[in-house]
Amino acid sequence: MKPFAFARPADVAEAVRDAAAEPNSVFLAGGTNLVDHLKLGVATPELVVDVRQLTSREITDSPDGGLRLGAATTNSQVAADPRVRERWPVLAQALLSGATGQLRNAATTGGNPLQRTRCVYFSDVTTPCNKREPGSGCSAVGGYTRYHAVLGTPSALPDPTAPDTCIATHPSDMAVALAALDAQVQVLGPDGERTVPFVELHRLVGADPSRDTVLEHGELITAIDLPALPAGARSAYRKVRDRASYAFALVSVAAVVADGEVRIALGGVAHKPWRAARAEEILRGTELTEHAVAAAMAAELATAQPQPGIDAGNGFKIPLVTRTVVATLRQLTPEAQS
Ligand SMILES: Cc1cc2nc3c(=O)[nH]c(=O)nc-3n(C[C@H](O)[C@H](O)[C@H](O)COP(=O)(O)OP(=O)(O)OC[C@H]3O[C@@H](n4cnc5c(N)ncnc54)[C@H](O)[C@@H]3O)c2cc1C
Ligand code: SF4
Repeated sequence: MKPFAFARPADVAEAVRDAAAEPNSVFLAGGTNLVDHLKLGVATPELVVDVRQLTSREITDSPDGGLRLGAATTNSQVAADPRVRERWPVLAQALLSGATGQLRNAATTGGNPLQRTRCVYFSDVTTPCNKREPGSGCSAVGGYTRYHAVLGTPSALPDPTAPDTCIATHPSDMAVALAALDAQVQVLGPDGERTVPFVELHRLVGADPSRDTVLEHGELITAIDLPALPAGARSAYRKVRDRASYAFALVSVAAVVADGEVRIALGGVAHKPWRAARAEEILRGTELTEHAVAAAMAAELATAQPQPGIDAGNGFKIPLVTRTVVATLRQLTPEAQS
């Protein structure tokens, strides 16, 4: 493990100043992702800035009926909060579907959405990986693609030697629920505070696979806001994985149904939590029968690009995510199925 300097600033302003002053610095929250990467040599910072004790550990009511989750609240704390369980069950379910009790006790609201991909080549420093080492290539193309993207990728078989190739997915369950909830991210950076809509926090690969989010260097998440849902809203999270516990999503679905509107966010299919905007538009105001939902998902997935690879690639995700959306909306609207 490469040696690094460790800073324990007095407050968030100092933390941001410290991080911004060193181009190769990172924030440390629960450490459940970052510490693994430090040990593996995936992350090689000069400076680690500890923010565990600096951002809020409180969950507070907002005047508009929403909730503010301080960045240092733990995944366990948020999942157990009675307000979250009652009014945003999709978030509690997503959190409880992730990792294990011990990990959720340490993992934080700020760190969870910023965890890095679980692409096996990303954490194997002996292999080329544009996300870990820009310009080195992408070992996943034609390799082990079971956990990789089918949406938002540029072509059916990208060039593994091109510097902009990356077919990784974002692994967070919490992030998929936050995308469906239209959460807002409060950020403090060297240039002050700003609010980032959660659906815009994560990026598609574009020209730079090394960047997962739109955050600039030195920007710290201080809180995430959950807006109120309409009265009578129902929400749920469904995750499909290779084993029942301690596994990342092959695909996942966060859905919210309210007032003739349906919101659908997909996990495990793209470089970012994927809002199924096309399917949502088709389903607006319609009865959510299995047939209607499957047809809307066919439109949503019209541009999907299954990747070939070891173990038959990841084409199975396309029917699987459709069935998972159908099952989730069936659960939320049993009256539409009769
Ligand atoms: C065995 C195992 C199984 C897991 N299974 C799942 C799973 O099924 N589903 C799932 O969703 N997750 C899973 N996880 C991942 C886990 O949820 C994340 O590691 C955790 O949520 C990260 O939060 P943290 O506070 O520990 O972040 P850290 O590890 O401290 O940091 C993660 C990243 O976020 C940055 N960061 C942290 N806080 C801030 C902040 N406030 N502002 C800006 N940047 C910040 C750090 O610099 C770092 O880059 C698993 C992890 C392990 C080890
Ligand atoms: S998919 Fe992305 S993270 Fe995985 S090897 Fe390719 S560039 Fe690296």
